[in-house]
Amino acid sequence: MLCPYCNAKDTKVVDSRETQEGRAIRRRRECAKCHRRFSTYEVRETARLLIVKKDGTKEEYDQAKVERGLRRAFEKRPGAEEKIEKILGEIECLLQERQTNEISSREIGNLILQKLKEVDEVAYIRFASVYKSFGSVKSFRKILETIG
Ligand SMILES: [Zn+2]
Repeated sequence: MLCPYCNAKDTKVVDSRETQEGRAIRRRRECAKCHRRFSTYEVRETARLLIVKKDGTKEEYDQAKVERGLRRAFEKRPGAEEKIEKILGEIECLLQERQTNEISSREIGNLILQKLKEVDEVAYIRFASVYKSFGSVKSFRKILETIG
């Protein structure tokens, strides 16, 4: 890691801590030559995953956003915390296995719905009703039909 001040190659880590609720690691480094300090951040690969929306625009994948959606869907459901954690973990795994760093909003929506369906049908229907704003009303009806 080059020193941003004097470009010296010899820098050492003087402090290392988790930040952004464990989603990143912040390292304080000190240059061996000029002794100035700077920070570096280490984030997981999936943090840079891009969601391609229906209109073609891209947005960085935000797990916190998915979590918020899931929390709404799981409101007052038994075992909500464990279920949310399980779904988020499984989605994270699936996303990491992918070879590309882009996924369509529809694809990720379906991924979440699929997981929800396995875990909690009520939460699934609730999430689907929010999700319909991303997809089409038609596909939402289709979802409802498959649950019967
Ligand atoms: Zn330096």
